[in-house]
Amino acid sequence: MATKEKSGKSAKKSTSGETHSFQAEVSRLLDIVANALYSEKEIFIRELVSNAADACDRLRYKAITEPALTEGDPNFRIAIDVDKDARTLTITDNGLGMTHDEMVENLGTIARSGTTAFVEQLSGDAKKDISVIGQFGVGFYSSFMVADTVDVISRQAGSDEAWQWSSDGKGAFTMAEAQADSRGTRITLHLKEDQAEYADAYRVRNVVKTYSDHIAFPITVKDVKAEDAADKAPEAVNTASALWTRPASEVTDQQYNEFFHHVSHTPGDPWTKLHFRAEGVIEYTGLLYIPASKPFDLYTQEKASKVRLYVKRVFITDNCEELVPRWLRFLHGVIDSSDLPLNISREMLQNNPVLTRIRNGITSRVIRELESKAEKDTEAYTAFWDNFGAVLKEGLYDGTGDRDALLGLTRFRSTHGDGLVSLKDYVGRMKEGQTAIYYITGDDLDVVKRSPQLEGFRSRGVEVLLMTDPVDQFWVPMVGRFDDKPFKSATQGGADLSSIKKTDGKDEDKAEDTPAEEDIGRLTAALKLALGKNVKDVRSSDRLTESAVCLVAGEGDLDMNLERIMKMHGQVSERAPRILEVNPSHPLIRQLAEQAKADSGGMEDAAFLLLDQARILEGEQLPDPAAFARRMSAAMAKGIGA
Ligand code: ADP
Repeated sequence: MATKEKSGKSAKKSTSGETHSFQAEVSRLLDIVANALYSEKEIFIRELVSNAADACDRLRYKAITEPALTEGDPNFRIAIDVDKDARTLTITDNGLGMTHDEMVENLGTIARSGTTAFVEQLSGDAKKDISVIGQFGVGFYSSFMVADTVDVISRQAGSDEAWQWSSDGKGAFTMAEAQADSRGTRITLHLKEDQAEYADAYRVRNVVKTYSDHIAFPITVKDVKAEDAADKAPEAVNTASALWTRPASEVTDQQYNEFFHHVSHTPGDPWTKLHFRAEGVIEYTGLLYIPASKPFDLYTQEKASKVRLYVKRVFITDNCEELVPRWLRFLHGVIDSSDLPLNISREMLQNNPVLTRIRNGITSRVIRELESKAEKDTEAYTAFWDNFGAVLKEGLYDGTGDRDALLGLTRFRSTHGDGLVSLKDYVGRMKEGQTAIYYITGDDLDVVKRSPQLEGFRSRGVEVLLMTDPVDQFWVPMVGRFDDKPFKSATQGGADLSSIKKTDGKDEDKAEDTPAEEDIGRLTAALKLALGKNVKDVRSSDRLTESAVCLVAGEGDLDMNLERIMKMHGQVSERAPRILEVNPSHPLIRQLAEQAKADSGGMEDAAFLLLDQARILEGEQLPDPAAFARRMSAAMAKGIGA
């Protein structure tokens, strides 16, 4: 009897071995999986087959350096046995197998990053939850859709210890020592009464054909109770050749999609695929996919990408930093090279010139594919951009040679309509007299759109790009220009809008609307005096039409939104004082200018109310809310003549 007990895990000894609780997230997941009605329960077979194939792949790689691991049993296979009388389905592989601790870890927790975010999205509403789970992929746990209890016996290659994991999927599982004649993993599903169809060999064969034909190892399906010879030594149900080596004309869409599920561990069809053979100095085959939805771990994952590297059809690794640039980390699929040695170690993959060439090749292929999609199908490209645009933009400050191509692929929301615009579109409709590409950054599109700083741009019909991805703060200053036009923040420095004509026809009445320049000058000087160190400057603005005031950053200062982000992360402690801009044609400012003409003292309350107003418009906390409330009340009381 086992007496292993791991600290931090709730392991309890029982007569059959140890009892462990599932990680809370797993329990929650299992609850939903077992009770909610997945319309396609049959996919559990593809999940188990996919895991079995991965285990074979991993052992084949290990055996290159440790041939003893597969001695006597060199041919990998996956066998599915069904038994109608016992109502069981058993799937056996002779892959790598798992140790005791690996079983506890892999079959009791969700190790993937993004798990918490994923579980937080579960609402308890079965319908919604299933679609969330659908995006996450349930893997092994999907067996509980059809089984009351599941037994897993595993023996790791090279070890003679075997363990049995058993569970009814309700909160806990047991671990006990077991017998296994050979390496690998055997999973037995004790099917629910109404799921007996999965103990039918004919039915299971069909499912394997549908979902797992691309698996490169032979998969057999046998009815253990059947009498005929074919059932005793069945032939492989699948084609069992690596899908990427087949000519594209011989691969169906369904097979491509199923292979995507296998390599990405996510359901749903991909957004696009690229299947190619690179020939020349370096030869390799690629089958790459871009997913149609954003994975949960896009920003948390440490891996560069999960693209699998094969050498002459032997799986080497799915954790190769050098294969794909980080900013293409949403790619899934396979690269199979014949120019790398089979026994290449993970260390040898670093700074490997062959790999560098492959990476460059992949990168330009993906860029070309994206360019063609962007040109041919705006709607599809928009979907891609909304999922992965922010990741692609990381490439803009990575200092890659692909910057120009990436700038061509980059899309933006803007003040002109709801659709996405390219930089080429933007430059094509710049106004006469406009010299810069204007943008504004923030974290919420709706808030950014309402920024007072945009008023003057709108009234002149000058388009402003609305940037709401954190990465925008970094690439824009790095890239600096497009088509020789500098990027310029709409909330920083002088806007220089005076050289662009207003299009809302308000130019003519400017003279009578606005106070004389010297009156405004007197007002801004008085405000500046009252505000002291709280502002860098006070000045009259071209930027505003509706609002009385706004804040902008000085020319050489940090962009205000970037400063906010940095402050949040503790990277700057103090904010630099801003410039308060006033709208000379606003009635309030005109009135104040009149007042300043008569007496430029006693401006303090008005000055601070204006500054606090501008801060509120920026979505910022007021440094002294009590003082604001006091001034506000006094002003209102005066207004109603109290
Ligand atoms: P995923 O496959 O998405 O990682 P699963 O829940 O399906 O998630 O499986 C969890 C882990 O359990 C796998 O990553 C693998 O390490 C291990 N595992 C599952 N099935 C097998 C198997 N047949 N042989 C060896 N290891 C396995």
